[in-house]
Amino acid sequence: NDLASLMDVSVNEVISVCMGLGMFVSINQRLDAEAITIIADEFNYEVEFTKTDEEESEIKEEENPEVLEDRAPIVTIMGHVDHGKTSLLDYIRRSKVTHGEAGGITQHIGAYDVETSDGHKIAFLDTPGHEAFTAMRARGAKITDVAIIVIAADDNVMPQTKEAINHAQVAGVPMIFAINKIDKPNANPDKIKEELANMNLLVEDWGGKYQSQEISAKTGVGVDELLEKVLLEAEILELKANPNKNAVGTVVEASLDRGRGYVSTIMVQAGTLRVGDVILAGQHYGRVKAMFDHIGKKVEVAGPSTPVQVLGLGGAPQAGDVFKVYDTEREAREIANSREQIQREQSLRTKKHITLDEIGRRLAIGSFKELNIIIKGDVDGSVEALSDSLLKLSKDEVKVNIIHQGVGQISESDVLLASASDAIILGFQVRPSANAKRLAEQEEIEIRHYSIIYDAINQIKDAIEGMLEPEF
Ligand code: GDP
Repeated sequence: NDLASLMDVSVNEVISVCMGLGMFVSINQRLDAEAITIIADEFNYEVEFTKTDEEESEIKEEENPEVLEDRAPIVTIMGHVDHGKTSLLDYIRRSKVTHGEAGGITQHIGAYDVETSDGHKIAFLDTPGHEAFTAMRARGAKITDVAIIVIAADDNVMPQTKEAINHAQVAGVPMIFAINKIDKPNANPDKIKEELANMNLLVEDWGGKYQSQEISAKTGVGVDELLEKVLLEAEILELKANPNKNAVGTVVEASLDRGRGYVSTIMVQAGTLRVGDVILAGQHYGRVKAMFDHIGKKVEVAGPSTPVQVLGLGGAPQAGDVFKVYDTEREAREIANSREQIQREQSLRTKKHITLDEIGRRLAIGSFKELNIIIKGDVDGSVEALSDSLLKLSKDEVKVNIIHQGVGQISESDVLLASASDAIILGFQVRPSANAKRLAEQEEIEIRHYSIIYDAINQIKDAIEGMLEPEF
């Protein structure tokens, strides 16, 4: 999507070129430098890489094994609503975080880290649900090492459970199943294991490869064992990072605080961050004025797998943005400026109103959920038929609304309505009046003409499918 936007071609064109090259890509897929160069070449563009592109790879940079040290796993908790994600995060925080910090008030800063009784550290991302996970992944962030999938033992494997499992699988992140609420009299953990088995996810005590743990986020039963299993999984992954270099990591959340300015929670993934360092995240840079941990305690340094709140950035970066330390403020400023310019150019190219080609681009930004359509036709019967079929294209992810339909020429008032409601206009065997045509050009309203109902349905269907978030 970004590449299409930079070259000012439609996303579909880029996707079809990729397919021609044997690459099956989705709209928000990250492409490596080589792929970008080859694809751009197909469109007669030459690619020049700036630091902006280089640094994304820096977190997973291959390093001399001698400089690497073990780091704590970073865990995300996902699952169906009401199955106990928040309760589990809260229980772990309450019971583990204040370790030796009596009186410390835990704050929700988007992440926290705990120390198990035998001295191992685990970092948790504190935004339950896979939306945050997916949003970050869409931005290219690889922050989660292990996913805990919470399933309530008094319920079933639910749609969002399946979604969470899919997201973890697609991301290649190992899962541990936490079968929750076993304190409840009607809890039936075996039923959950059976449902998982039916999905080809056989848990360990049934002879499979997936770790699972029965827990109660309410009483705390099984939570220690769950954390041990996280550590076991982490051990297999051999998580390592070089702590002795400039810090690099990912933004977890950011906001503007009245008293303190821009406050960003970041997860250091490699290197060590220090007060006074110049950091750049997204388009924003600044010198770290102060750092705090999740209980609000001031810290001077933060090593790999440590979440910290940072003061000093000149703006609020987005969750999932990579952050990195630079040696000089000048360097950081230059990159920030070039990123800002790229974004300005991209937003200039973003159309004012929706078009079928624009749909994919908007979806990738994450805001597109509804397609508004106005239908005008020559006879009532075909307008009805078209409208009925288009309505049936609605899906959970994208809803099709017919905001107006009628017989006759496409009029100025149709265009104004389209403009006010960000709709496209479909003309079936009819054309716009001269004034309507002019207005449509001025307002950048897309008018599509059809004489075969089937063609109209297919085109809209393709557009919607192109804009659907990939389904697994
Ligand atoms: P989330 O939507 O997945 O974050 O779920 P919550 O953590 O908000 O939990 C939903 C409800 O289930 C709340 O009323 C919790 O008190 C309750 N709950 C969560 N875990 C347990 C548990 O282990 N046992 C019992 N009995 N209730 C639980």
